[in-house]
Formats: sequence, structure tokens, C-alpha cells
Amino acid sequence: MEKKIIIELHDVSPFYKNELLNILRMLYEHGIKKFSILLTPNFKGRYRLDKDNSFKDLIKCLKQEIILHGLYHEGKFSLRHILATNREGEFADLSKEETRRRIVEGNKILKNCGIDTHFFVAPAWINNKYLEKILTEQKFKGIGNRWSIKIFNKKKIFSPIITLSNRNILSFLSKKSAKTLIKLYKNFETIRFAIHMQDANDSEKIILWKELIEQTEKRRLISYEDLTSES
Ligand SMILES: [Zn+2]
Repeated sequence: MEKKIIIELHDVSPFYKNELLNILRMLYEHGIKKFSILLTPNFKGRYRLDKDNSFKDLIKCLKQEIILHGLYHEGKFSLRHILATNREGEFADLSKEETRRRIVEGNKILKNCGIDTHFFVAPAWINNKYLEKILTEQKFKGIGNRWSIKIFNKKKIFSPIITLSNRNILSFLSKKSAKTLIKLYKNFETIRFAIHMQDANDSEKIILWKELIEQTEKRRLISYEDLTSES
């Protein structure tokens, strides 16, 4: 069994330009030539991708797979999701119409930039019951969840995520547990790293990501698109 890894860069937006550059430097220093960019087209309703030409050009120059990652990356405060996220569950309680509007709008901003996308990951991995149907209707090929990637009408690939949470309470715990996690995940065929832009502002997290990348360097780097063609 050949082991594989998908490296995902989460929350990519003009808001995190410096963070992105630092993370890209780290990846290139480790010879990582394939990764997936999770783009948020209008972060917090204030950082539209198509209004920032240099950032847009940077993204296109990277020539990597683009995954739509919400529209604003912001949701209402929700007691139900407080353990999973800090107001990042953009899609948690949206109506069908608003879910569709955000997917269409996000896609439109990417199209304005000349960027194609076929996959979606919800902020904080919090979906709602309309999401898959709307994504299918909008010609998306699949969705990434916390434990698996679903290719619509085809298959579901078990591929757990390793993430270093950005929430203060959980931050310490996940730093401690990342190495334990990698041991646990060692036998899984396909794993994913979720490197968040905010991780770039925490030197301990960057050190940890470097270690994790080194520990998994024998795995073949793949994309979501690669999964659609593999058996
Ligand atoms: Zn996110």
C-alpha cells in the first residue's frame, strides 16, 4: 500500500499575505511541490480576492489546486459549535438560499480572477444539510470533511486531518498531541495536514509543522483532483 498525503493551506486570503509567504517558504525549503490552497474569496467581508491584483497573481503563479473555503469565513456565535470553532462555522445555520448564494458568490469571485475550483471545504469543517446538494448542482466534484473526502456520486476516501488548532484553549493540547497523532495515523493510507495561515504567527507551531513534514516525507504528495482518478 502506497502512503499518500495532502497538504492543505487553510484560510488563504489577502488578509494573511505575510503568513502565506512564510508558510510557502517553509514548504519550499522542505521540497514540497504539491499542495492544496483553500481560498476564502471575501474574508470577513473585507478582503476580496479580486480587489487585490498582486495577491491574485501570486496565487495563480503557484499553479496549485484551489479549493473554495467559504465566502467570508465567519459565522454567528454558536453554543452548539463552541468546542469545534470560534465563530468560524460560516455554514452552520445558513438557509438553503443563503448557502447557495455564498457558494455562487465565492465561485464568481474566483472566476473573476481566472481561477477554477472543483472542491469545497467548509470553514471549521462545519457543513449544513444543504451543502452537498448545492455543491453538486454547482458542478463541484467533492467536499473535504474532517475525517474523509467525499467525491460526489463516486466514493468517500478516509483521510483524517492533522491540525494545530488556533484556539488558545486547545492550542497547547494540540501542540502536545501532534507527534502522538502522527504515530496513530502512521498506518493510514491517505492523511491530510491542515496548515492554517494563523499558524505562521506561532513559532512553536512552525517548528512542529517542520517536524511533521519531515516525518511524513516518504508519503506521496497528492491533491483532491488526484483522488478522483485513483482507484
Ligand atoms: Zn478555515
